[in-house]
Amino acid sequence: MKITALETFSIAPRWLFLAIRTDEGITGWGEPVIEGRSATVAAAVEELAGYLVGQDPFRIEDHWQALTKGGFYRGGPILSSAVAGIDQALWDIKGKALDVPVHELLGGPVRDRMRTYSWIAGDDPSGVAEHARERMDQGFDAVKMNVGGKFRPLESKGELDRLVGRVAAVRDAIGDEADIAIDFHGRISPALARVACRRLEPFHLLFVEEPVVPELTADLSRICESTTIPIATGERLYSRWDFRDLLGSGIAVAQPDPSHAGGISEVRRIAAMAEAYGVALAPHCPLGPIAFAACLQIDFATPNALIQETSLGIHYNAEGGSDLLDYLVDPSVFTFADSHIARPTGPGLGIEVDEQAVRRAAEIGQNWRNPLWRNSDGSFTEW
Ligand SMILES: [Mg+2]
Repeated sequence: MKITALETFSIAPRWLFLAIRTDEGITGWGEPVIEGRSATVAAAVEELAGYLVGQDPFRIEDHWQALTKGGFYRGGPILSSAVAGIDQALWDIKGKALDVPVHELLGGPVRDRMRTYSWIAGDDPSGVAEHARERMDQGFDAVKMNVGGKFRPLESKGELDRLVGRVAAVRDAIGDEADIAIDFHGRISPALARVACRRLEPFHLLFVEEPVVPELTADLSRICESTTIPIATGERLYSRWDFRDLLGSGIAVAQPDPSHAGGISEVRRIAAMAEAYGVALAPHCPLGPIAFAACLQIDFATPNALIQETSLGIHYNAEGGSDLLDYLVDPSVFTFADSHIARPTGPGLGIEVDEQAVRRAAEIGQNWRNPLWRNSDGSFTEW
């Protein structure tokens, strides 16, 4: 079998899909994207296509090595995301050609169903208790939320009281059996992280995610030591080398994104490294159905996978007018029951992409950009 062509599709709400064609009629799908930089990633995919066309798609590891390292300069979000989507599509081709799900090729299933969690509220959260209750009614037993919008490096007691109040409202709404995770989105300083985590400890959070930006990863050990709350991070790290020094810092959960961190191949390796440090895996996935399918293939073959993020109903999808199930021939492959999703049994990534729907959406395209936030004094602040 030979690769004949690579084609990308930019579609709402903020996604980039990749189809890799072969001379035997099998198409593999991947989702290579950095949200807000999808055209840049598409250009990287186009450059890498020059190497792949004419090659045997089954040589996934060798292609990973050549695509990641063969250009001399390596790593970072754009190149690693381009390789990630290509890697997903190659696994999809191989699974389809051999008529087995990808997780069978990764060693076979280690679980029968995978726990998932859903987002509540938006970037600058409001109505969190009502939204959490809606998610419980939909069958979820774990939610993740932002606890505030813009933060200054150090905050007033009033702002922290409001932050804590939002978490308290959610805990009151969903009781003690369901889980709450907090995403700080890298918006706060290490000092504020220590203060905020101390105040959040009584709510028994599942984890606190990305308290600080990835540039401050070296400071995470001090944050981990300062609180009993499990710390999670990793959506803005792109390889096992980016994770290497982090895993011994005391974090509890590694969150590589299979659409950013070198695909299924590299996230499996990151998961195995994490296991050696007693760190659980929770693949980051606020993206589309191909990325989610890739996450599930990893989860079902990975013993230390803890919980899976899903973009179903996430604020980006609601605002973009398109959701997780819109580009699937059979959306029932992603049926959530009791906060879990069943093991996918279809070949490859286990989904059938509705290419006609993708083509129609690509005619409209998307140009999503993340908000640029500023403090009340006009200075830049993290979104
Ligand atoms: Mg996050």
